[in-house]
This record gives sequence, C-alpha cells and structure tokens, in this order.
Amino acid sequence: MSTTTGLTSRESAVLGGVQTGLFIGGQWRPGAAGTIPVDDPSTQEVIAQIADGTVDDAKDALAAAVAVSEQWAATPPRDRGEILRRAFELITARAEDLALLMTLEMGKTLKESRGEIAYAAEFFRWFSEEAVRIAGRWSVAPNGATRLLTMKQPVGPCLFITPWNFPMAMGTRKIGPAVAAGCTMVVKPATQTPLSMLALAGIMKEAGLPDGVLNVVTTSKTGAVMAELINDPRLRKLSFTGSTEVGKKLVAQSADQLLRISMELGGNAPFLVFGDADVDAAVDGAMLAKMRNMGEACTAANRFIVHESVADEFSRKLARRMGALTVGRGTQDGVDVGPLVDLPSQRKVGELVQDAVDRGATVLTGGGTVGDRGYFFAPTVLANVAPDTRLLAEEIFGPVAPVTTFAADDEAVRLANDTEFGLVAYFYSRDLSRALRVAEGLHTGMVGINQGIVSNPAAPFGGVKQSGFGREGGAEGIEEYLDVKYVGIAL
Ligand code: NAP
Repeated sequence: MSTTTGLTSRESAVLGGVQTGLFIGGQWRPGAAGTIPVDDPSTQEVIAQIADGTVDDAKDALAAAVAVSEQWAATPPRDRGEILRRAFELITARAEDLALLMTLEMGKTLKESRGEIAYAAEFFRWFSEEAVRIAGRWSVAPNGATRLLTMKQPVGPCLFITPWNFPMAMGTRKIGPAVAAGCTMVVKPATQTPLSMLALAGIMKEAGLPDGVLNVVTTSKTGAVMAELINDPRLRKLSFTGSTEVGKKLVAQSADQLLRISMELGGNAPFLVFGDADVDAAVDGAMLAKMRNMGEACTAANRFIVHESVADEFSRKLARRMGALTVGRGTQDGVDVGPLVDLPSQRKVGELVQDAVDRGATVLTGGGTVGDRGYFFAPTVLANVAPDTRLLAEEIFGPVAPVTTFAADDEAVRLANDTEFGLVAYFYSRDLSRALRVAEGLHTGMVGINQGIVSNPAAPFGGVKQSGFGREGGAEGIEEYLDVKYVGIAL
C-alpha cells in the first residue's frame, strides 16, 4: 500500500468531507486503538484513516443505544418515518458525492455506485412508509370467555455487522426497518469499506435521528470486539450480512444469550436457460446477474446451466458481450468493470479459473488478471466446465461465468439445487407451466424468472439452507425488529 498521491481535487474534497471517527451517542470521537488505513483497490493507495475502536469504545456505543432505547421506542411512528424520509431525500440529493466515495473505497464503477446509492436510499423511503403500518390483532378466544390482544413491540438494542461489497445498501436494509420499528443500534461496517457508512451516520444525524439511536464503530479487532457486544446482556438482536463461514460463528456466539438473529449469507446462484428461452434476453439477464458489482454479489450468477440445444449460441453471445467490457478504475468514463476488492480476492478468482482449465474447461474470453496495479480481473466465460470443478461449488465473487449444459428439466432443477447454498436462482423460459414448476422446485429464498436481478426494497430478500435466514425489505423486513406480545383479557 502506498500513500495518497493521485487523487483529483474533487476526490480529495469528497474524502475530506467524511468524518472518520467513531460515532457514539451522536458525537464523533477518536478510537482508543489509533487508526486503520483504508485503500483504493484500483490504485492500492491509502485514501483515508478511520478510527480503530476497542472493546470499551464498542461498549460505550452499546450503552448509548441502550440509554435511548425506551424513549426511541415510544417516539411516534410518524416521527420515525419522517426521519427516514428526510434521510432518503438527503441521500438522493447527495448521490453524486456518495457514489464517488463508494467507488473510491470499494472500486465499483460510478454507474454501479449510483445504482447502489439509489437502492440504499429506497430502503429508507420504503420503511418510512412501513413505520406507520405496524399493527397487531384483536380476537375472541374459542371459548368466548377471554379476548386475545396481540401487539408488536421493538426488539430493543441491535448489533448490525455489514460486508464490503455493498457498503451502504447492506446497512440501510437493516437501519431502515430498525428505525421504523423503534429499535436502537450499533453498526459495524466492513473495515475495507467503512466510509459510506460513516457518511450515512452524518446524514442520519442531519435528518434528525436522535443521538444514540444509531452508533457506528470501526475496529481492527473485529472478532474480539464483536464477541464482547454479542455477549452483552443488554443486546437483544444481531443482524449480520457476510460470509457463511463468519455467520456460523456468530450464530454459535449468539446462543448464550438466545439473541434474535438474522443471517444474510453467501450464495451460489444457478442461472438456467431452457430450450424455449429468448436467448438474447437470457444473455441480457446473464450480464446483469453476473456482472453487477463485478460479480462480487451474494446474488451473482455463479453457475450457468444451459439447455444443450441453445448452449453454444448462449455461450458465444455471452462471451462476445463479456469480452467487449472495458476494465479500469471505476471513476473513469467508459469503464464497465472495476477492480476486485483486494489481492486475496483477485488470487482466489485466478485459482478457481485455473482449476477449471486444468479440468478441461475452454476459455471463451478473459481468463486472467488485467494490468500490473490494482486488483483487476478480466470478464471471463468458460465452456465445457467439468462437474467437479471448484467454481461450481464455491462462491466465485468475481467476473467469471462457467457454462454447463443439461438435457431434461428435472436434471436442470437437480443441478441447480446441488449446492449447500440457497439464496437465489434465475431462469429463462417462455413456457408458463414450466416456469411455475421450476420455480416451485428450486430450493432458494428468491427466484428471478426472465430477469437477472431480484433485489427490490419492496420484496423480501433472503435465503434458505446455508444462505441464512430472515428477510430484509418488503412487508417482512420490519418483522425482524418486532417482538410479538400477547395479552389475554378476561371479560
Ligand atoms: P465477511 O468476511 O463475513 O465479513 C462481513 C462482516 O463481518 C465484516 O464487517 C467483517 O468485519 C465482519 N466479521 C469478520 N469476522 C468476524 C467475526 N469473527 N466476528 C464478527 N464479525 C466479523 O464477508 P465479506 O467478505 O465482507 O462479504 C462477502 C460475503 O458476504 C459473501 O459471502 C457474500 O455472499 C455475503 N453477502 C451476503 C448478502 C446477503 O444478503 N445474503 C449480501 C451481501 C454479501 P471486517 O471487515 O472487520 O473483517
């Protein structure tokens, strides 16, 4: 890592406008353990120093969330909703600066960052509308003697741990419903991409969120610091988005306190193309499902499973589109694909491709790294991929599309389900009965039919199997932050 030299004046100004301390009780303060460098993955240069928080800092953040918990829960839902709405407006008004900030810390292109900012803000608009729709039930017990009142109340102080690939949206998907439900929170963004979340904390304050409702802690001792918070009896809920490996550890740690937990974990999405599909539309969908976020998305299509009658046409057209993409620094005009987030990611993608080639795969386009600075990898399409190839079983998290074939529908569904993950599946078909049959047969939390993107703040996002549990967005999203209380009333 070298120090900052090549930033434009606008980039420096945007970076200079972000508070880099810990955000606790509405105040910014330094971390007791010093600072942590943040680098730009396209240049490997350090672009910021953020606070390195300790266990004591994190405990202070939780104490701040606990201190205002009851008062916040009692705040009128309309007021909570309007704060979210104001935050939505502020994010939208500042989308250009926020997008540049995200590109600098994460690498994705400005176009992609703009898309994520809009998506992130939309969770606030959606949950600003949901805040006033938290309802209970009133019913007569079967024996007629008592009445049953069912009410919903905020779960209390929450801990949110978020990943680097969507630095803002993975936060707003949790913060939006929590604020709407009346919960307070401590957020721990990924150490590689903390700046977007720190900028968001400032916006929330400006939007009128009372001090202590949202606290942000960054640390270089993530495991140790988070374990202390998870073991703290004042915490009531943990919501995590990240790898299945870390998610499993956190589920185990949460058992001592029987915390409410939501787990948004890894994926290994199949993308099926049936013989009756519109192949050009399938290629358009494949580009979205594969290349959103350079393939660094839990929803990224990981395995293309294509009917043998259209496999050649599909692979050829996909390779042509992938090969035409321009790789480069995400801030530059005309760039379609930014760098991967770091060197281990770049190496892992290279190893997966090499393993496939060693087992007989044909490289239709790409196949290796690009340039000698930054963590770039060429958009790659592989045909003739053998069934035991590692990249069919592991999350690739890069711009690599392996294509395999099938002959019969039940074989396609069996191959699609042949993974421990179950986040999302995509398929292309123009036959309604086939589409419904296949959608029912897929073991995933989400299915995209004739579309390569499923993320939508108005829909319940989440997985089954080792992709986790819990839902974010939709009418379901707020339920993760509400406890049900039943009151029996004798007449
Ligand atoms: P990760 O390594 O699991 O890290 C995610 C977060 O967990 C980061 O904030 C990280 O902090 C923190 N963390 C790491 N070790 C921890 C520990 N022992 N205790 C507590 N927290 C810990 O995942 P990632 O590489 O950032 O993100 C990529 C993964 O996220 C992929 O598997 C992807 O599929 C998944 N993902 C899932 C969804 C979904 O909705 N299902 C969405 C996006 C991403 P540090 O940064 O400080 O290490």
